[in-house]
Amino acid sequence: MNVIATTDRDLRPRILDAPFPIASAEQYVFSFQQAHGLSRDLLGGKGAELAEMTSLRLPVPAGFTITAEACRQYFDSGESLPDGLWEQVLAALTDLESQMDRRLDDPANPLLVSVRSGAAISMPGMMDTVLNLGMNEHVAAGIAVSTVDEAFAYDLYRRFIQMYGNVVLGVEGRRFGGAIDALKAERSVENNADLTADDFRELVGRFNEIVLDITGRPVPEEPHIQLRQAINAVFESWNTARAIAYRNYRGISHNLGTAVNVQAMVYGNRGVDSGTGVLFTRDPATGEKRLYGEYLSQAQGEDVVNGEVTPCDVDQLADDMPAVYEQLTSVVNTLENHYRDVQDVEFTVEQGTLYMLQTRTAQRSARASVRIAVDMVEEGLISKQEAVLRIDPEQVNQLLLPQFDDRAKVAAKSEGRVMTVGLGASPGAATGRLVLDPNQAVELAGDGVAVILARPETNAEDVHGMLASVGVLTTRGGATSHAAVVARGVGKPCVTAASDIEVDLKNNIVRCGDITVSDGAYVSIDGGTGEVFLGEIPTESPDVSNDQHLNTVLGWADKMRDLRVWANADSAEDALLARKLGAEGIGLCRTEHMFFKPERLSVVREMIIAAHEAQRGSADQRQQFLNALANLEEMQTTDFEGLFRAMDGCPVVIRLLDPPLHEFLPRYEELLQRSITLRASDGDVKDTEDSEHLMETVAEMREENPMMGLRGCRVGLVYPEIYDMQVRAIMRAAQTVSGQGVEVIPEIMVPLVSDKGEMVRIQDRLRGVIAEIRGGTSPLPMHKIGAMIETPRAALTADRLSECAEFFSFVTNDLTQMTYAFSRDDAEAKFLIQYLEDGVLTQDPFTTIDRDGVGRLVEMAVALARGARPGIEIGVCGEHGGDPSSIEFFHEVGLDYVSCSPFRVPIARLAAAQAKLRAVA
Ligand code: ADP
Ligand code: MG
Ligand code: MG
Repeated sequence: MNVIATTDRDLRPRILDAPFPIASAEQYVFSFQQAHGLSRDLLGGKGAELAEMTSLRLPVPAGFTITAEACRQYFDSGESLPDGLWEQVLAALTDLESQMDRRLDDPANPLLVSVRSGAAISMPGMMDTVLNLGMNEHVAAGIAVSTVDEAFAYDLYRRFIQMYGNVVLGVEGRRFGGAIDALKAERSVENNADLTADDFRELVGRFNEIVLDITGRPVPEEPHIQLRQAINAVFESWNTARAIAYRNYRGISHNLGTAVNVQAMVYGNRGVDSGTGVLFTRDPATGEKRLYGEYLSQAQGEDVVNGEVTPCDVDQLADDMPAVYEQLTSVVNTLENHYRDVQDVEFTVEQGTLYMLQTRTAQRSARASVRIAVDMVEEGLISKQEAVLRIDPEQVNQLLLPQFDDRAKVAAKSEGRVMTVGLGASPGAATGRLVLDPNQAVELAGDGVAVILARPETNAEDVHGMLASVGVLTTRGGATSHAAVVARGVGKPCVTAASDIEVDLKNNIVRCGDITVSDGAYVSIDGGTGEVFLGEIPTESPDVSNDQHLNTVLGWADKMRDLRVWANADSAEDALLARKLGAEGIGLCRTEHMFFKPERLSVVREMIIAAHEAQRGSADQRQQFLNALANLEEMQTTDFEGLFRAMDGCPVVIRLLDPPLHEFLPRYEELLQRSITLRASDGDVKDTEDSEHLMETVAEMREENPMMGLRGCRVGLVYPEIYDMQVRAIMRAAQTVSGQGVEVIPEIMVPLVSDKGEMVRIQDRLRGVIAEIRGGTSPLPMHKIGAMIETPRAALTADRLSECAEFFSFVTNDLTQMTYAFSRDDAEAKFLIQYLEDGVLTQDPFTTIDRDGVGRLVEMAVALARGARPGIEIGVCGEHGGDPSSIEFFHEVGLDYVSCSPFRVPIARLAAAQAKLRAVA
C-alpha cells in the first residue's frame, strides 16, 4: 500500500500544478443551490432534481453538478476536459468542504463524495456512479478511529475500491463479487453483514491485488486524482455499448452527454439505525395511492437494487423508525405536490437522520399510468387536459397486453405446473422457451423463437437479452430491482424474487425443489401475479372496453379531439369489436377478404377463369361468368347486411375489389407440378386436362409486376361486371337493412385510381347500376362514391379527381411504397433495417409517416381537393392511422378521420386528442 501511496503522491504535482489555461468564460460547475432553475439539458435529470429538492429545503446532502455541456465538449475535443473545468471543480470542492466542515484526505474529519452520472433523459442503470470517493488507507484508518467502528470504515474502503475498480479502471464487477463470495466461504458466513472489520480489511487487500493484477495500476490514493479520473469515467460511461444500445432502443439522441454530480456521502451502512431505500409515491404497478418501496437496513447505495439481498417493505420503517417514516411521508408528499406527478425516490437514513438522494418522475405500468392520471384529476392536482397528455398512447397499447387464457391457466394449476410465485414486477403474461444466457436469447429471438430470460438477477450487461425476450424471470431482487425497472420501462412481463428457484448458470439449468428445467424448455410467467409455470400456456388479449379508468380518460379525450376515429374491419365481428373500442365508423372494409373463405374461393376462381375466357367472346363462358357473379352477389349481400347492422348510424367505407385476380388462383408452379405428376402417373384424363388447362390460364394471366399490373380499378374497368356485382350487393344490403330501421351510411371506394378518367367511367357505370336498384321497394340510403388515394398521381391531381370523387381516403402505406418505390416486403426483408441502423433513414416510413415526402403529397392533395370541392370528406386508412406520431400529422393537415385496426382505436382516440391539445398549446 505504501508503494502505491507514494506513487500517487508523486503524481500529484504533475497533474494538479500543471499551469491551467485562463478560465474560459463558460461556467461548467454549479452547486446544487446555484443550479436551481437551470435547464435539464445542462444539469441532467438527476442534477436538476437535486437542485430542485435543495431549493425546496428538503434534506439533500450538499454537492455540485458538472454540466452535460462539459461532457459534450469533452467528446468534441477528443476526450479531454474542457478548459477551466478542473479549476471550477476545485473551487466547488473547497466550497463543499467548508459547507460540510469536512475535508478531502483529512483522516480526522474526511469528506467523501459520490460521483454520479445523470443525463437529461433518464437512462436507469445505464451509466456509472462511484461512491465513497476520497477513500484511502489513512482516511479509512481515521474513520475507524473517529467512529470507533472499524468494520464500517473498511466496508466503505472496500466498496470504494470495488466501484472505482469497476467504473474507472474497468475491472469486471464479478471479479470483486467472486472475491467476496470466496471470503464468505472461507469464513463460513452467509451475508456481508456477518463479515468483521478484519474481513473487510482483508477484502481491501484482495481487491487491490485484483486491480493491480488486471490493470497493472493501483487505485490512486490521492482524492483529487480519484475525482478527476472518476469524472472522466462518468463522461466515458455515456458511450458504453449498453448505454448506446439503450439509446438506440429508446430513440434517445447520442449527442446529449451526461452531467456529473459530485455529492457529499451519507452513510446508510452506519449501524442498525441506518439504511437505504427506494420508493414510489404510488404503486407503480396498479397506481394505488400508497407508498410503495423497499428499505434495506445497514446498507449503502445500490445494495437495495442489485438484488443480492431481498430488502423489506418500506412500510417496515413505520415500525422500526416511526419518526423517520413520518418525515419521509411528508417529504414525498411535498415532492408529489410540487411535481404534480408520481415520484420515484432514493433515500438514505444515517443514524436516524433522513437524506434524499434522488427523485424523478416514476415509470409506471400502463394500468397505473391511467389510474394515476384519473386519480390526480379527482384530487385536483392536474387538469383533464394534463391527464390526457400524460398517458403515452403506447401505454394504452400495453393495456391490451396478452394475459393467459383463463382455462389454460386453471388447467396448468390443477396439473401442478406452478413452479413458484415470485413478485409480479411488470404486468403481462408471456410464454416461451427458457434461456439463461442473454446472448443466446438474442440469437434465438432473431430466429423468431419466443424466449423467457431467467437470471439470478440482472444488470446492465443483460439488457440486450432482456429486450430480445418476451419475458424476464429473476430469482433475487424486488420490485425496484434492475430487472423490474427495465422490464416495466419497455413493457415486458417480468417476475422477480422467485426465490424458490435456483438459476444455475454453470449447468444452464433452472431448479425448483426437485424439478429441473433445462434451457429450451417452455415456461410461462405472469408479471402481474408473479406466477411461474412449467410448460406453455396460451395467451390472449384482455377486454379493455371494461376498464373504467381507461374509459374515463378516453371519454375526456373524445371531447377534446377534432379527428374522428374509425376502424378497418372486414367483417361484422371486427366491426362490433371496433365499435366497442370506440370506433365511429369503418374506414376500410376490404371486400376481397370475404372472398378468401374456403367455401367461397372455388366460386371466386370459377368467376375469374370464366371472366378471362369470356374476353375471347365465348357466350358460354360469359354466362358462366355471370352465374358465378350472381352467386357471389348473394354472399356479399349477406356480409354487407351484417356489417351495416353492426355500424348502425356510422359511415361504412367499402373498397371495391383491389388485388390482382390471380392472387385468388393457385400458383403456377404448383399447377405445373401437379400436371406433371398427373401425366407421369397416367392419372384420370379429365383431371389431367383440367389441371393443364388451369395452368395455361394462370400462365396467361401472370404479370411481370402484379402490384403494378391489372388490379384495383383497372380490374373494374376491364371486367366492369365485377364492380357492378359488388355495388349491387352493397346497395341492396343497404336498402334491406335500412328498411329494418337501421341507419346505413355506405361509402363506395374505388381503389388504385390514378386518373380522373378512370373515376368518371366507373362512377357513371355504377350510378347506372344503382339507379336500376332504385326501382325496388324501400328507398335507397344516401351514399357516396369516392376514391382511394394511393398513387402519387392521384395525390398530385386531387383537384381534378375531386371534381367527381365524393370523398378521399389515403392509403398511406401504399402511397409510401409508391413514393419511395419500395416494395414493403422486399424493403423490410432486404435493406430497411440496414438503412435504419446506418441512419440513411431515421425512421421506418411504414411505421411513422414520412412527413417530408409522402406527408407533403398528402398535404398538397388535401389542399387541392378542398379547393375544388369544399367540405370533401378526407380520411386515412392503413397502419399510419394508428400511429400516434402520424396521427399528429393527420391532425395538423386537417383530415376528417383516421382509420386503424380495431385494437388501435383507443390509442388513436388518445393520440388524436393529444395532437389537438399540443397544436393549441
Ligand atoms: P443510478 O443512476 O444508477 O441510480 P446514482 O447516482 O443514483 O446511480 O447512485 C447509485 C446509488 O448510490 C443510489 O442508490 C444512490 O442513492 C446512492 N448514492 C448516490 N450518492 C450518494 C451519496 N452522496 N450518499 C449516499 N448514497 C449515495
Ligand atoms: Mg443504479
Ligand atoms: Mg439513482
